[in-house]
Amino acid sequence: MAEWELGRVLRALGLLEERGLLRCAWCGAGLRRAVCTEPHDGGFVTLNGIRLWAWVECPKCGYQWALWKLFRLACARNETACRELKQVLEQ
Ligand SMILES: [Zn+2]
Repeated sequence: MAEWELGRVLRALGLLEERGLLRCAWCGAGLRRAVCTEPHDGGFVTLNGIRLWAWVECPKCGYQWALWKLFRLACARNETACRELKQVLEQ
């Protein structure tokens, strides 16, 4: 299972923001880099070794975007951003 450190996740979201890819796929609103987290054994984001559920809530429609979903959508839309995203998350 993938494991992403929270700091890397925030950098990855910044990258998407710069490329205009940090948007809600339901309503089109821009998403903020405010990540909500909750400790959970099944989470794949880690902070100091603790696993977390992590998501970003759309300010307009309220949809809670799991980070892996946001990353997967960005990858489907933009190949270059996808490559950069993987570098930020995995290097
Ligand atoms: Zn939305």
